[in-house]
Amino acid sequence: MIPKPKVMLSREQIAARVAELGAQITSDYRDRPLVLVPILKGSFLFAADLARAIDLVDVRIDFLGLRSYGSGVETSGVVQITYDLGAPIEDQDVLIVEDIVDTGLSMRYLLDNLATRRPRSVKICSLLHKPARTRAKIDIDYLGFTIEDKFVVGYGLDYAEKFRNLPFIGVIES
Ligand code: 5GP
Repeated sequence: MIPKPKVMLSREQIAARVAELGAQITSDYRDRPLVLVPILKGSFLFAADLARAIDLVDVRIDFLGLRSYGSGVETSGVVQITYDLGAPIEDQDVLIVEDIVDTGLSMRYLLDNLATRRPRSVKICSLLHKPARTRAKIDIDYLGFTIEDKFVVGYGLDYAEKFRNLPFIGVIES
């Protein structure tokens, strides 16, 4: 039997913070076309909720798949693009939507990669940040929650591809 994770952030807490982030992004990007880039798979639920909290007309959404974890809990530091953007981002304002910045290695790789495509700007919106494990320092422009150094699942985040469908962020108790 797989144990049910213990709630760290409830769906109500997440919804309230997502609404705040959406309002902030709405106000910052008013009158500017925006390209939202959710990072698959982990940010799919966060991005779906965030997109609906952004009250702007000129928003394009394009996905990018990254793999930095196998089925374990430790990053290898090796990052691979598993699914690339469908259109150029040259001269466009890009907002990366990520589930969690942990060591920062994936985001560092992604920022370097996107820079070669010459966007006008690139900002980061991450639901979670685990500062205790930083290996590459990343400035997160829009941050949902800072969390302690625990492996979390739910609301898009997995453990061995399970738990992505949980409506909250939880911790697996051993
Ligand atoms: P980083 O490169 O910053 O170490 O990690 C990036 C990716 O590792 C995240 O986008 C996420 O997919 C995965 N990851 C990091 N920490 C956790 C965690 O606590 N739980 C889960 N499920 N995935 C994590």
